[in-house]
This record gives sequence, structure tokens and C-alpha cells, in this order.
Amino acid sequence: MSADVKHIAILGATGSIGTSCLEVVRANMESMKIDVMTAHSNWQELAKFAAEFLPQTVVLTGLKEGDIPDDTFPTNVEVLFGEEALIRSVEAEQIETVITGIVGAAGLRGTWAAVCAGKRIGLANKETLVVAGEIVTEKAKETGSVLIPVDSEHSAIFQALMCGEPNEVERIILTASGGPFRTWTAEELENVTIANALDHPTWDMGPKITIDSATMMNKALEIIEARWLFDIPAEKIDVVVHPQSIVHSMVEFVDGSVMAQLSPPDMKLPIQFAITYPERISGISPKLDLTQTFSLDFQPPDLERFPSLSLGFEVAGKGGTAGVVLNAANEIAVDRFLNKQLAFTDIPRLSRSILASHHFESHPTLDQLLTLDRWARQEALRWTSLTSQPSPSLTAPRC
Ligand code: NAD
Ligand code: MG
Repeated sequence: MSADVKHIAILGATGSIGTSCLEVVRANMESMKIDVMTAHSNWQELAKFAAEFLPQTVVLTGLKEGDIPDDTFPTNVEVLFGEEALIRSVEAEQIETVITGIVGAAGLRGTWAAVCAGKRIGLANKETLVVAGEIVTEKAKETGSVLIPVDSEHSAIFQALMCGEPNEVERIILTASGGPFRTWTAEELENVTIANALDHPTWDMGPKITIDSATMMNKALEIIEARWLFDIPAEKIDVVVHPQSIVHSMVEFVDGSVMAQLSPPDMKLPIQFAITYPERISGISPKLDLTQTFSLDFQPPDLERFPSLSLGFEVAGKGGTAGVVLNAANEIAVDRFLNKQLAFTDIPRLSRSILASHHFESHPTLDQLLTLDRWARQEALRWTSLTSQPSPSLTAPRC
């Protein structure tokens, strides 16, 4: 094992973040090695990647032995099944960086295991911090695990914060593309279709985050993510709409200086930086072309048309159990919307209603959060008047 090679586990290797991460590694094979790759059920895609990258271990969390043909993976690749196997694989001694590209609260257990094992986390799974931000960041301090954001806004803030001391920060300003409905009227929003909502103007992402971007719930989740990741109070977080998605976010310092990070919208840059930090290496992400005329526009967000945003500020301010409830309600709402069982504008309505009806605790344990996750999913399903079962919920992670 060469000391200069970075050993990586990619959780959710078949997703949008996962495949962008594979592109980064493909371009840096001399300095990066994938030891672990996971996917939920797409074994065909995972097998293709395993044949190319020859990891030590692959894990299929949503399948079991016997679900796939015997000769699917190369003979020297260990093939494991289930969530416990994912946890064991990220704990492996040689793993240095864990890229958390699993979508939703389902990503919490793997991230938690990696934090407990003191690994460097390339944090894409923002839901981990929305659900349990205080507990996870405390645990990271204890184990020496470093959380490096992959979310483009948070990566920008992480980089801009290097320009000053924590006590010199006036506020952080998250940019938002505004999504596909930035210019739609409130009446038009009542008739949004799934195809409309999946058609993001600047980013190519998985379906859940794409719907979250359309409702601007993604920005709400990012406000909460920023609150915990940077240990900054909600009052010091602002959102500005920036349709071009070139300025990825900004930090304003007490003297009025604003530091921003700019690059074309492409996740390979923040992923690569999370792996190489504190170094920078030349990369394959597209560069800004300043020979072309372009403009950068900024406008205040419209909280009336996009009520999800207010939820983000409220929940970031409250902390405690608010994040897990908002996240679970939103996950069910997005799922129901994608299954044509909920109107687009009902997504924030449902989330607010479940949030308002829950019994708030300011300092919950992880077990309490997981219980509330299940409760909120059931309540959200009840709200949609459905009798089907909630998607597989969380079980208590060990540490
Ligand atoms: P995606 O839907 O494209 O991929 C999700 C991955 O997670 C897949 O590999 C899938 O197999 C795996 N997965 C799904 N359900 C699982 C489960 N229950 N257990 C284990 N694995 C499971 O999602 P994505 O767009 O890549 O987003 C992943 C995470 O990164 C999300 O938290 C999202 O908010 C965050 N993020 C994504 C982007 C982006 O550009 N896509 C940008 C910033 C942050
Ligand atoms: Mg983002």
C-alpha cells in the first residue's frame, strides 16, 4: 500500500454523486484507490464499476446472497450484502476517506459508522446533519473525524472561511439556483407535473434532490446542514437566489469583505477537493471561461412562493428534534409526489403540518431521533391518507 495513495470508500457509488466521484478517481488513478463501493440494488451497474476499479469489497445493501448470479463480480472482489456489511466495510483500517453519496436518512448509519471510526468524511449526504447534526458533529470532535462538505454551497463556504477567523464571520450566504420554478406564479405552482419538477436548469442530480431543489426544500436542508457543519447560529445564515449557479456561496466578514467561490456547476470539483484537502490538484472539472460575456444575477428568495425555505430557517433555529421530523416528512412527501399521490405544493404543507404536531425535545438522544423518524414517516403517510407502509426506516446505529 503506497503512502501517497488515498484509499476511498464510496457509499452510493451508482448514484449521481457516486458516479461523479468515480470520474474523479478515474482521472487520478495514480493517487486514488477505491477499496469499497456500495449500491442499494443496482447490481448490474455496480458490477460494471467493480470490473473497472477492482475494489476490495462491494456491498449491496438492499439485496441478499442469492439475489444475483454467482459470477457477477470479478473473483477477487469480496461481495457482501446488507447494511451491517456496509458498516463493517467503512470501518476497515486502510480506508482514509468515505464519500457519503447515499440519498436520504438511509445514509445516516454509514456516515455515523465512518465518523465513529474517525475517518475523513466527504459529506454529500446532507440528511445526516439535518437529522442528527448536533450529535454527529460532537461525535466527530471526539473521534477526530473531519467532515469535509461535498455539497457545492458548503464546499464554497468551507473554502471561503479559510480567509478569516471564526470570530470574524458576520454571516454566511448560501446561493440557490431557484430551481425550475423560479419565475412561476403561485397559481402555476399548483399545477406542476413530475416532468416539470425533474427538469433542473443548472444541475444534473438524483431524483430526490432534484425535487427538493424544485420546492427549495433542498436549500432548507442546506441551511440546517450549514448550521451544524459550521457551528453557526441560524440568524447568521442567509439565502440569495443566483440562477447561474456559478457563485456557489459566500462568507461575509465583519469588515464587510465578502469571499465567494466560483466555478461552473459541476460536482467533480467539490468531490475532488474533499479527497485532496488541504491540497489542491489540477482536475477534470470544467473551468470558468472568462473570454465569454456572462452575467451573475442575485435576487432575494420569495418565501411566499417557496414556503419550504422558512421551514429551513425555523428548524435550523430550533435544533433538537425538529430536523429529523422535517426530513422524514419531506422524504415521504417527495416519494408520494413522484408516485403521483401528492400535489407539488402539498410537499411543504405536509412537512409543516407534521413538524407542528410533533413533541419537540431540545436535546434528544440518537435513539429518540430514530424513533421520531419512524413516527414522522407514519404521520406523513397518514396525512396523504395512504395505508401503505413507510419506506425502510432507521435502526439504531452502534458506535
Ligand atoms: P442518487 O439517487 O443519484 O443516488 C443514491 C445512491 O444511494 C445510489 O447509489 C443508491 O444505490 C444508493 N441508495 C439509495 N437508497 C439507499 C438505501 N436505502 N440504502 C443504501 N443505499 C441507498 O442520489 P444523489 O443525487 O447522488 O444524492 C446523494 C446524496 O448527495 C443526497 O443526500 C443528496 O442530497 C446529496 N447531494 C447530491 C448532489 C448531486 O449533485 N447529486 C449535490 C449535493 C448533495
Ligand atoms: Mg447543494
